[in-house]
Amino acid sequence: MTGQHRIVVLGAGYAGLAAARRLARTARDARITVVDAHTSFVERVRLHQQASGQRIPTWDLREALEGKHIDFVNARATDIDTAGKRVVLDAAPALEYDSLIYALGSIADVESVPGVAEHAYSVATLEDVNALPTPDGPVAVVGPGATGIELAAELAESHPGTRVLLLGSDEPGAWLSARAQAHIRRTLERLGVEIRSGAKVIEVSPEGPRLADGSLVESAMTVWTTGFRVPDLAARSGLAVDPDGRVLTDATLRSVSHPDIYAAGDAAVVAGPGGRDLRMACATALPTGKHAADAVVARMRGREPEEFRFRYVLQCLSLGRRDGVVQAVQADDAPARMVLTGRTAAWVKERIVRSAAWSARP
Ligand SMILES: Cc1cc2nc3c(=O)[nH]c(=O)nc-3n(C[C@H](O)[C@H](O)[C@H](O)COP(=O)(O)OP(=O)(O)OC[C@H]3O[C@@H](n4cnc5c(N)ncnc54)[C@H](O)[C@@H]3O)c2cc1C
Repeated sequence: MTGQHRIVVLGAGYAGLAAARRLARTARDARITVVDAHTSFVERVRLHQQASGQRIPTWDLREALEGKHIDFVNARATDIDTAGKRVVLDAAPALEYDSLIYALGSIADVESVPGVAEHAYSVATLEDVNALPTPDGPVAVVGPGATGIELAAELAESHPGTRVLLLGSDEPGAWLSARAQAHIRRTLERLGVEIRSGAKVIEVSPEGPRLADGSLVESAMTVWTTGFRVPDLAARSGLAVDPDGRVLTDATLRSVSHPDIYAAGDAAVVAGPGGRDLRMACATALPTGKHAADAVVARMRGREPEEFRFRYVLQCLSLGRRDGVVQAVQADDAPARMVLTGRTAAWVKERIVRSAAWSARP
């Protein structure tokens, strides 16, 4: 290779921007280009707030990156020509790279259960949320995971009088400590959310979700929050991926099949504490983005990068705007003893969400 090293970052979410921000400091001799299909950075972790009618902060990517030694290209990546080391874009000329950081995030998985794609809404992207109508009848939120809990609480708080049901096989927050689970249940019930645990949804019809026991939960709007999948670009472009299409990486976050490509955030499989893959989270997207950038720069300078090391610290859930749960966790994400609840937890969660956006902004 001759001339400037060209680093292309695909995706301007938490992982891609964390990578770009790092590169802007550590690779000033390189040409850094960030590509995103959107013109604005969206705080994805607040999409449940937007879904319940609040306006969430967004910022213009071109403005934020201007003067920061980062070029921004607003286009959708449609193919990675790994042999020619080029990214093909829908609305701009193809971009050549010497190193590529793949950080395209995730989207809602609406294919695994019949009827979801046709009759349910989701909150995984800004487009999903913007398609949500204002509720004019019962809302069924399917999935008692973090997104489902946060959405149900937010909807119930901001639409008093609207019947909100939270459905799923498990108890809301089943992966947290008993104390955290009890607080989540109490708060959801105080907000008026009807919790239906042990309710496995096998289909979504125009009338609402149908359960494994054959019963129908009538709803004016069904929101599917269980399951995320990743864009198929990596798989289509021939990168080694797991069965879900996420890029397989080594300990330095480099693709195991393509040495010029690194992956970070939701779109990557990254080994975490205890050998378990990191979960999809803003909390993992930021450090993996930074580490991928460091690995690119190390190799660019002829050094062997350090291995990625990570430990979980907290899990935070908002329960409306005035309540929440902050669960301390062990290195491997298993719940520890400390749990904060109520307004203090809501305050901590809000601070963490703000600082996540702040750490992504170059
Ligand atoms: C409602 C909700 C609440 C959440 N709450 C939390 C929370 O409290 N804590 C937490 O840790 N995590 C939370 N998450 C998860 C968190 O948002 C994700 O794990 C995180 O956004 C992943 O970051 P990322 O950079 O990998 O991907 P993303 O943030 O999804 O960014 C991917 C970027 O790639 C772009 N892109 C995608 N495809 C293309 C393409 N082909 N061409 C060009 N650009 C493309 C997208 O426009 C996007 O900007 C929440 C998620 C949701 C939906």
